[in-house]
Amino acid sequence: MSFDLASRLAARRADNLFRQRPLLQSPQGPEVVVDGQPLLAFCSNDYLGLANHPEVIRALQQGAQQWGVGGGASHLVIGHSQPHHELEEALAEFTGRPRALLFSTGYMANLAAVTALVGQGDSVLEDRLNHASLLDGGLLSGARFSRYLHNDADSLAKRLDKAEGNSLVVTDGVFSMDGDLADLPALCAEAKKRGAWLMVDDAHGFGPLGASGGGIVEHFGLGIDEVPVLVGTLGKAFGTAGAFVAGSEELIETLIQFARPYIYTTSQPPAVACATLKSLELLRSEGWRREHLNQLIARFRAGATQLGLELMDSPTPIQPILIGDSARAVEFSRLLRERGLLVGAIRPPTVPAGTARLRVTLSAAHSFEQVERLLAALGECQALLPSEEGNQCTA
Ligand code: PMP
Repeated sequence: MSFDLASRLAARRADNLFRQRPLLQSPQGPEVVVDGQPLLAFCSNDYLGLANHPEVIRALQQGAQQWGVGGGASHLVIGHSQPHHELEEALAEFTGRPRALLFSTGYMANLAAVTALVGQGDSVLEDRLNHASLLDGGLLSGARFSRYLHNDADSLAKRLDKAEGNSLVVTDGVFSMDGDLADLPALCAEAKKRGAWLMVDDAHGFGPLGASGGGIVEHFGLGIDEVPVLVGTLGKAFGTAGAFVAGSEELIETLIQFARPYIYTTSQPPAVACATLKSLELLRSEGWRREHLNQLIARFRAGATQLGLELMDSPTPIQPILIGDSARAVEFSRLLRERGLLVGAIRPPTVPAGTARLRVTLSAAHSFEQVERLLAALGECQALLPSEEGNQCTA
């Protein structure tokens, strides 16, 4: 007996699902160098263009000077330093929650929150399009796991009727592959009616959404009673790295005491927390970044619609173009790359079968001219692709 990895990899290639990692040879930004080629990128999550902000870079440098590089240990041993503490206080104030807890990644924050809150005898109910880390957390928790139809409060209600023990309803705030917003008012109402708790992972909403970048809860004006468990990540609009959970004093203390992905890992480098403190300040104060981004989104949607491209119902910087077939999506992405543009093709299993797409993401760092360049290239490549009917005939 041996592991037949070669066949597994060959099958992946045959299904057009083999993934390759582009090698970035420049800093993040609209103009990058990838695998030796200069490209205009529309695939980063640096929605506000803060990843390269000189003040954020300076804060990181000064942080390293003062605090060294490594976190040194887990938070409960000797890894919880002053910058972590200050960032947690600033994030609590920003989210309007009594406390926040810092994590090294969003993946860990989601695993931690779900597994610390529910276990055997409880129920976890998740949107079927939730991010993998939320789904993995639900499966790992040992609670009864069910997925409701995407953004469908009636489907959630039916599952809540059959739930047992404590029930945790879990949803992305902004869906990472579709860009649409969770219908939080409706989901909150169902959760409240049945005494369930709602957990929202707003990885993609903090920064772009809300009058001061406070994400989907600010957008809908929802407080801690409606959303007791709020997650944000720092590697996207904040332009740094890490994540946080915000909520009540008791919630945060429960995570510190019981969440294994919090307890058994080294804290993030304190200099990164210094950088995030600066980027949080900029995210709140430089409102022009959100305004510019929203104008780019509007221009992109109008132009793409004019080209007859199929967009999704997204008011956010995530603007997927639905293609359907995986091979076709990969070919579209390749044609764009030939023209100097980098747009990722997203395929199953990341998205449901038959819904492969180009995932265009916009950033406040983009200019209007760059968006026009993208639209022109999309039009050109679309014309070069064989028609979908043609594809089906030869399939
Ligand atoms: N939640 C969502 C919705 C995400 O899109 C992502 C990352 N793509 C994560 C969580 C994980 O965050 P991180 O990259 O910090 O692990």
